[in-house]
Amino acid sequence: MMCSEFAWFRFEHSWSNTLSTSWSTPLRWLIPWLCLLAGGPCPAAEWLVGAARIDLTPPASLKAALGGYSARLSRPAQGVHDRVWAKALTFAEGDKRLVLVTADVLAFPPPVKPALRERLERLGITVDEMILLPSHTHNSIDMLALHPGNRFQVPQLGIYHPQLYEHTLDKLAEVIQASGRALEPARAVSLRQKLTGWNRNRRGGLTVDPDLTLLRIDRLDGRPLAVVAQFTAHPTLLGASEMLFSGDWPGALQRSLEERIGGGVTVLYHNGAQGDLSPAPREEKAPAYEKAEAYGRALAQEAHALWREGEGQTRRPTQFAFRKTTFDLPPIVKPPAPSASPGLFNELLSGTLEQMVKELLPRTSHSVALRVDDWMIVGMPGEFAAELGREVKQRVARATGAKHVVIGGLADEWLSYFLTEAEYVRGGYEPTLSFFGPRGGPTLVEAITAGASRLRPEKPEQK
Ligand SMILES: [Zn+2]
Repeated sequence: MMCSEFAWFRFEHSWSNTLSTSWSTPLRWLIPWLCLLAGGPCPAAEWLVGAARIDLTPPASLKAALGGYSARLSRPAQGVHDRVWAKALTFAEGDKRLVLVTADVLAFPPPVKPALRERLERLGITVDEMILLPSHTHNSIDMLALHPGNRFQVPQLGIYHPQLYEHTLDKLAEVIQASGRALEPARAVSLRQKLTGWNRNRRGGLTVDPDLTLLRIDRLDGRPLAVVAQFTAHPTLLGASEMLFSGDWPGALQRSLEERIGGGVTVLYHNGAQGDLSPAPREEKAPAYEKAEAYGRALAQEAHALWREGEGQTRRPTQFAFRKTTFDLPPIVKPPAPSASPGLFNELLSGTLEQMVKELLPRTSHSVALRVDDWMIVGMPGEFAAELGREVKQRVARATGAKHVVIGGLADEWLSYFLTEAEYVRGGYEPTLSFFGPRGGPTLVEAITAGASRLRPEKPEQK
């Protein structure tokens, strides 16, 4: 009971804005607690969702570099093609809180999530769990610019930028806070469709992930609140010579789907197990920015048709649960020399890269899985090959009964690429950035699958 009371006070303190401005009186919140104290039966707590967005584009004065291509040598971006955003969805039920954050950035290094948590605590915001999901656009904030431990000055790999780090963390904390203030009762449904010919395996393999998956969230009166959209491919329709900030095709997808749905809906895009997947452009010959725009818009058209199938299907979830699994990482293994020898690695492999990996990567990691009825997202901390993603999706779906399992690609922290053992041994670009060796991929898949598989409905008590 002490525990419940503590939770209540913490809750009241952190979310007082929500209680007073959003949907109800504190009395309504008291009812479940009072009836817990009285021994039940209790009405189920409402399922609440709040969405917010924030412009993450760094001011020109910061001279931020674009992450993703070593050939750019950390030169500052030359301007903005389309603005890059961070978006947050807070999910709440009773005293459970989870925040899902998507961002048009390359990836987050390991220190970002704990630093963000600290910042939220300073603001008096308590969340049980967070899932951070970068889209992996190669035309936005660089990953190693956001790593305070990155003392290395290697322009091919990214240079720490303290002001940009502060700026980005401030914005992320702000958008999370805003989504918590916007909580209101909501209804949801998940939808899935297979898209053939929209992505390809860039290592020449046959495995692709064809799933376009949506979580459609509506307000109680049926107006659209948010959509979590997932399709798997590298956002690399813009190349190294495109030097303007852009969300690449995921940026266009989110903008276009928001326009089509209307009503101020927030569309959040996240990637999947995209380690070896490229997009198959719709306009092969168009200039790069047009190619990205066309692909995003065409994908939004498919997503919109799928979203409409959910009309009248949303309901109050009966299964809202999340779980964090922590695990030790396998030992770091010296990456194999690349088969073709791109200039980048010649010098780096002689020692600097090895030292960076040792200093900048953690020894343990984690995966957060979130379930909303048939939709389930499983966070995976890096760039996983599609084959590994498929294994996790299938095994978790079998174990939990969730029909629409999606991978949260590059979730929370970027650790490296992860391949199947056979693909690691086969060589090429990705193994040179797979720092946990041939068994890294399979080892993480086991740990992550085991954790997420426990998000199954509780069995009714035997009488
Ligand atoms: Zn990548």
